[in-house]
Amino acid sequence: MSKTILERRLFGPGPSNPYPEATSALGLPLLGHLDPEFIARMDNVCDGLRVLWGTKNSRTLPLSATGSAGMEAAFVNTINPGDVAVIAINGLFGERMCEVASRVGAEIVRVEHDYGTPIDAERVAAAHPNPKVIAGVHAETSTGVVSDIAALGAIKGDALLITDAVTSIGGMPVLADEWGIDVGYAGTQKCIGVAPGLAPFTISDRAFERRVAKPQSWYLDLGLLGGYATGSTGGKRTYHHTAPVAMVASLEAGLNRIQAEGLEAVTKRHQEAGKALQDGIQEMGLELFAAEGHRLPQLTTVKVPNGVDSAKVRSYLLNRFNIEIGGGVAQYADTVWRIGLMGPNANPASVALILASLKEAIDKA
Ligand SMILES: *Cc1c(COP(=O)(O)O)cnc(C)c1O
Repeated sequence: MSKTILERRLFGPGPSNPYPEATSALGLPLLGHLDPEFIARMDNVCDGLRVLWGTKNSRTLPLSATGSAGMEAAFVNTINPGDVAVIAINGLFGERMCEVASRVGAEIVRVEHDYGTPIDAERVAAAHPNPKVIAGVHAETSTGVVSDIAALGAIKGDALLITDAVTSIGGMPVLADEWGIDVGYAGTQKCIGVAPGLAPFTISDRAFERRVAKPQSWYLDLGLLGGYATGSTGGKRTYHHTAPVAMVASLEAGLNRIQAEGLEAVTKRHQEAGKALQDGIQEMGLELFAAEGHRLPQLTTVKVPNGVDSAKVRSYLLNRFNIEIGGGVAQYADTVWRIGLMGPNANPASVALILASLKEAIDKA
């Protein structure tokens, strides 16, 4: 890179700026992936992830890839060709679930919702009498909407409930056991406040027992991964693939940071920052995109005002203030902005900075 770039403020849909502790940990001396010190670190990470997931699942681990690989792992391990998957779609990531599920041969029942609205559990329940899997996104980063996953858990019956918690985890309460989540996947680069590269994953015993015997993917075969990370096998670590040791160290530091502040305080900080931003945006005379009452605090969607060029505003923010925000997705690419306040960025100073810079960008871009 020829140009020196000052630190970007990553206020888009992710990656977000990591906690400084997580960045520093990337520089720790590298350990071998079977080193006892590393194994202790991995245990620590799995324990920390269980807290974030709100689960006692022994099979809770960071998969060595990004959130989308968590999505692949969820479907490839639960769906045999011809199995019925009812998928709630209220944004891009619900669409991606359909794409992934179709590749493992699922018979997909789509339950479509308007973008900007939450998942309607009653419609999901009515879509099919006995699906193998029901799937939905907790925090739709593409639209800024939170859905009630407990309501899906309540109607799932005998189905396995797959939940995307990529943007919710670490930023708002996720209670996998209480809500009835059987398979959950997430990412490190959003509210956990760590660089992209790992997919925190959890699967219940019930789902593990009903898993696909020989999934299409060797890398994401949870049967083989059992001995890689978790103590679930009760015995020796086995080599499956080389753990991304530096990323695991970074995740450990991020989780320790969250633990030190307290998970409740962290989610409250996200809640307050998001509310302040959304109030401020409306006071500027702009409109929010996500339906009222279902707005994510950590990801705010804003309607681009008429006559304003979305891309020009975004490049003004980037070039003048080193601030990144996101555009919209699909048919809303040019008419919606997505502003994230995730991890360390969820604070009042970020809110003030965004409001002032966005105002200048709209006036001058
Ligand atoms: C970011 C995101 C993903 C994809 O994660 P990657 O780390 O980009 O692979 C999936 N689901 C949701 C809701 C996301 O926000």
